[in-house]
Amino acid sequence: MTAGKIAIVGAGPSGCFLAQSLLKAAPELEVDLIDRLPVPYGLVRYGVAADHQGTKGVARQFARIFERQGAQFHGNITLGQEVTLEALQTAYDAVVLAAGLMQDRALEIPGGDLPGIHGAGAITRALYDHPDATPLPDLGPRPLIVGNGNVAIDLLRLLAKQPEELEGSDLGPVATGWLRQNGVEEITITGRSPAAQAKFDTVMIKELSKLSGVTIHVEGAGSSEDAAEAKKIEAVLALHGHATGPRRVTFRFGLTPLAVEGDERVTAMRFQTTAGEETLPCTSVLTAIGFCADGVLPRDTLLAGAQDAEAGVLAPGLYATGWFRRGPRGTIPENRADAQALATRILAELTPDPDKPGRVILSDLDARVDYSGWTRIDAHEIATAPDDRCRAKIASREEMLRLAREEEKTK
Ligand SMILES: Cc1cc2nc3c(=O)[nH]c(=O)nc-3n(C[C@H](O)[C@H](O)[C@H](O)COP(=O)(O)OP(=O)(O)OC[C@H]3O[C@@H](n4cnc5c(N)ncnc54)[C@H](O)[C@@H]3O)c2cc1C
Repeated sequence: MTAGKIAIVGAGPSGCFLAQSLLKAAPELEVDLIDRLPVPYGLVRYGVAADHQGTKGVARQFARIFERQGAQFHGNITLGQEVTLEALQTAYDAVVLAAGLMQDRALEIPGGDLPGIHGAGAITRALYDHPDATPLPDLGPRPLIVGNGNVAIDLLRLLAKQPEELEGSDLGPVATGWLRQNGVEEITITGRSPAAQAKFDTVMIKELSKLSGVTIHVEGAGSSEDAAEAKKIEAVLALHGHATGPRRVTFRFGLTPLAVEGDERVTAMRFQTTAGEETLPCTSVLTAIGFCADGVLPRDTLLAGAQDAEAGVLAPGLYATGWFRRGPRGTIPENRADAQALATRILAELTPDPDKPGRVILSDLDARVDYSGWTRIDAHEIATAPDDRCRAKIASREEMLRLAREEEKTK
């Protein structure tokens, strides 16, 4: 019997969970994970905070997909550049888009494009040594964070940490130096909703009580009769008065952004509150208000014309999963259920065609980095880690490619 051939675009959590589910149900399948980066695991490597290494441990589970379940990694291949969607659809029985959402959602208010405004995605990519990152910016002494989700709290925590609190992380020397010398004195974090409905998880808030160099002030946390909401408020209020150092952190709630003010760069942000308008002076604005597609793939068109968008069926033989399908919501484990349901659907619809060439169309691409190439990068990063870090991430794509390939030649 001909084994079905499935291409998954994106080797982040959703692509990996999908490959895992497909191969568990049907080990004979040929499952290929294609990623624009020479390294797998998407936001596990470039979004999950450098000081949350436990969360990144899921990568060990994903490695088994390649090492034991027979999936193949085709890194350094961008759909839309080295290979087209049409070419994949011609070569494979099923194609799945699991390409995530990497663009920061813009602050669509007057002044929303002033210099001094930075998206959380751009900042975290730069902090975590993403090869396509822009340099870390000058935040000035008073950055203001817009957003109340876990990504906003990650940013706040990293900005507030002392150098010794980053031991054991994989934060590189450039980011470490930037955090040490950026001159931040006061961080204000603002949310549109009241504290009761803030999107952050309580556990993320509780972690802030361990910070060793900050003084935390909480304003307007409010109250709620609802037990879950009351717990959230209680966690935030427990931070009020935490005083272990000079760097000031202020939590504000119920502030709807109206405008960013400044001539040549940000000087303040104006908000609507229940009491009227309020202007908060700041030297930079960090937005953590969600993500959208980068435009390489026509996501909106594909989803608008989808056969069954809720189930991830875009068209016969073409599927979508993870953040690319659902939008920028949900943690790593939340992508698993999505992937399991889609795997069942794909297997029910799969009609293998023996004439489809499958992975042959990728193996010949000069750009391609395979799984063993990634393991060489991985081993090098771990072997060269300084004593106070768990790995020394390579930021340069050229250097990654050199490592992945140089030893290949000497095999
Ligand atoms: C800053 C940040 C911190 C987070 N922290 C946590 C956390 O601590 N814990 C937690 O549970 N969740 C966290 N999350 C959420 C978690 O990262 C997501 O749920 C998860 O990564 C979504 O998986 P995905 O595979 O859909 O997308 P991604 O992880 O983004 O993976 C998409 C992959 O597709 C690739 N790709 C994109 N376009 C193309 C293309 N054209 N061709 C080929 N490849 C392409 C990308 O390189 C990437 O590897 C965080 C998210 C962010 C943004």
